Amino acid sequence: MELLIYIYLFIFGACFGSFYNVVGLRISDGKSISKPRSSCPKCGHVLCWWELIPILSYFLLVGKCRECKSHISTKYLLFEIVTSLLFMYCYFMFGFSGEFIISLMFVSLIIIISVSDLEYMIIEDKVLIFFFGLLVLLRVFIKLPTEFLTFNINHYLESLIGGLFGFILLYLIAFIGQIVYKQEVMGGGDIKLYGIIGIVLGLKMTLLSLFFASTVGTVISLLLSSLKMINKEKPIPFGPFIGIGCLLTYFYGIEILKWYFNLF
Ligand SMILES: [Zn+2]
Repeated sequence: MELLIYIYLFIFGACFGSFYNVVGLRISDGKSISKPRSSCPKCGHVLCWWELIPILSYFLLVGKCRECKSHISTKYLLFEIVTSLLFMYCYFMFGFSGEFIISLMFVSLIIIISVSDLEYMIIEDKVLIFFFGLLVLLRVFIKLPTEFLTFNINHYLESLIGGLFGFILLYLIAFIGQIVYKQEVMGGGDIKLYGIIGIVLGLKMTLLSLFFASTVGTVISLLLSSLKMINKEKPIPFGPFIGIGCLLTYFYGIEILKWYFNLF
């Protein structure tokens, strides 16, 4: 039975991952997400039903367009697989509970913003507004896990403080960065995104996620710039690092904090 649930979640995740690729790419490009049907960006060949099967179609087509033989980006495949694995992981962590629904939505938000941020360096307002509404509503009914609370105050207040804290802190970082470096160090999308993250995670975990996001971001940026893969003209999108930092905190933050404080 459990195995069956995981298989379902894998398929379900792959389909949603495929849809999130479309949402992330089309919304940021100002296109409709339902029409026209998906086609090859090189030759315009409209994909038939089996070419639209997530994950599987990539292997059936051996990673190439059936018409013009141009390479299909492995990014699509990667996001489909990552969404599948994360959907299964959400069930593994939370089982069938309220938090399971929040975790699926949180993962969805992170996948969509990562797709668009990697492709266009944009985190679209429409996506943020949708998930803001959805996650605020869900947090009204599904309380923040007790161990996420910073002070033993009300769950709602913790979410509210977390959201305000995330938004204001990133706004300040962006504001100071602008003065010091005389250029945009943080996009408006990142700032608004952190408001939503704060609502989902609460104050303490938001701060921890920011620490992880900037650590992972710094390490990977240094690595990529030493390989000359990024430079001042070609900056690196921060959204995917925020995503990694947040999921790490969401799934393992409490364990990491316990481990860290036990060291001292
Ligand atoms: Zn083609």
